[in-house]
Amino acid sequence: MEETIFDKILAGEIPADIVYEDEAVIAFRDINPQAPTHVLVVPRTRMRSIADAPGKDIKTLGQFVQGIARTATALGLDDRGYRVVFNTGPDALQTVEYVHAHILGGRKMSWPPG
Ligand code: 5GP
Repeated sequence: MEETIFDKILAGEIPADIVYEDEAVIAFRDINPQAPTHVLVVPRTRMRSIADAPGKDIKTLGQFVQGIARTATALGLDDRGYRVVFNTGPDALQTVEYVHAHILGGRKMSWPPG
């Protein structure tokens, strides 16, 4: 798989505004925020997108999901709530081919999403 910008952030080769990290994930602020709080959560284990999840072990996937929830807690979003988005493939406008969860919060969301 081709190296992505998130591989470089994980390797510490380019800077990011890291808000949470543990043994399984790293979470950093999106460079182009779409909400008052917009953070990306990336597992240390490489996947192209969430569509690769069936081929991954349950522990890795579980730690990824827990990392998303722990990041939201660290950001103080639990009381008001937040949205988690996995853009997957071209129709969803996925631009970085390294799986990442968007955590969006700090404002009232609308539905359906665009
Ligand atoms: P996608 O469209 O693939 O779901 O989301 C990729 C996200 O990565 C976009 O929201 C974009 O703003 C963000 N992004 C792209 N390059 C960088 C970067 O170098 N640093 C950070 N912090 N975010 C980035």
